[in-house]
Amino acid sequence: MNRKQRRQREKAKKKMSPDERNLSEKILLFNQLPDACNRCSASFDNTNKEMVKSWTVVVRETAGKVRLFCPSCINSTKEEYNASNPTI
Ligand SMILES: [Zn+2]
Repeated sequence: MNRKQRRQREKAKKKMSPDERNLSEKILLFNQLPDACNRCSASFDNTNKEMVKSWTVVVRETAGKVRLFCPSCINSTKEEYNASNPTI
């Protein structure tokens, strides 16, 4: 890759809004979704729309991991994550 191509690639990357990036990452990682809450182990049904809407997926880019939290656990977990990951 020469310098010009690299610059164009970086430009394209920057063009994406953080929301778009988040979304594409979430879609990419959707197959890796855990089937239970990461904290209390409540089981998660990804065919249940209400569940999908109310549960929270936390993507840790650095670790390449997907975590899933039920509505009651996310509140206590949010604070921990907000410090290191403001994109939740
Ligand atoms: Zn939970």
